[in-house]
Amino acid sequence: MSTARAVVVTEPGDTSVLEVLEREVPEPAPGEVQVELAAAGVNFYDVYVRQGVYPTPTPFVLGNEGSGTVVAVGAGVEDVAVGDRVAWGQSGSSQATLVNVPAAKVVPVPDGVDLVDAAAAMLQGLTAHYLVTSTYPVREGDVALVHAAAGGVGQLLVQMIRNRGGIVVATAGSEEKLAIARGRGARHTINYREVGDLAAAIREAAGGGVHVAYDGVGKDTFDASLASLRRRGMLVLFGGASGQVPPFDLQRLNSAGSVYVTRPSLAHYVEERDEFLSRSAELFEWIRTGAVELSIGGRFPFARAAEAYDALEGRRTTGKLVLIP
Ligand code: NDP
Repeated sequence: MSTARAVVVTEPGDTSVLEVLEREVPEPAPGEVQVELAAAGVNFYDVYVRQGVYPTPTPFVLGNEGSGTVVAVGAGVEDVAVGDRVAWGQSGSSQATLVNVPAAKVVPVPDGVDLVDAAAAMLQGLTAHYLVTSTYPVREGDVALVHAAAGGVGQLLVQMIRNRGGIVVATAGSEEKLAIARGRGARHTINYREVGDLAAAIREAAGGGVHVAYDGVGKDTFDASLASLRRRGMLVLFGGASGQVPPFDLQRLNSAGSVYVTRPSLAHYVEERDEFLSRSAELFEWIRTGAVELSIGGRFPFARAAEAYDALEGRRTTGKLVLIP
């Protein structure tokens, strides 16, 4: 048994419920590895968990993504060894100096990829990867809408679409954020907090409508995303930073031009170990070669975790925030 410092949710609520506490960490169970944490990611998913949207018995250690060096392995673990540099996503209780993670959830971090970048890439990077390669595989010349394009997933989407030969129409909530989106390769940018008719502005920029709309903002943008599609286009609703989209009349798909709507989750695109390994290997290769650049928008010690989440929830961030213990 070892001890670790951890970011703990003491009861469901706002960021005032976060505390840094000492916790006991058992030896890794069969099938687990124990990792000394290098960095942990700050994600919207953690907000939903902290608020109790996904009920979890309290107290619990927050966090769903991280990276570090393996210091012990449990029985039956064969493809991960002490000393390996690894990263993981979608495994809870990650914001602790020592973390036990199922070996099936970790991937190797190749030489040439920094551990902080690796932690930052797992959820947002793999999400952008499956959205542009599998949910709607972007083709040369496609016009793609990306909302919140200066955000974590947003900046990665813009770069990956550009790399596949797509044309990006980007939205964001300030001039500074629009400049970031242009720097990442967006051809057209729209401040959706100032424009009157958002769908009309998108359609005009797109020259008639977009082939695909990637929408992680949800409630506030869904209607405009739908109305901005060209005939038989696809709306990919992948999140609800502004709130969840209310129930929806399927007849609207017809009147919008025989369009498609899907609501994907990363979990369903990395469930098979082979798919998880091949997606993360390709993503790390893009990062190592500079084809995709990560933007670390802030590094916070555990003691300032509340500040990091307040900034994320308050729309004051660009790129990815990480916690460094
Ligand atoms: P971001 O860095 O994109 O931060 C969210 C951004 O959304 C804000 O910066 C803000 O940008 C915009 N926004 C618009 N309205 C609001 C609002 N009312 N409150 C807060 N933000 C708002 O976050 P992430 O990159 O971490 O996540 C983006 C989305 O992706 C989230 O919805 C998340 O849940 C989802 N996600 C989905 C996954 C999946 O597999 N389905 C996996 C991982 C993440 P601006 O100021 O420009 O408007």
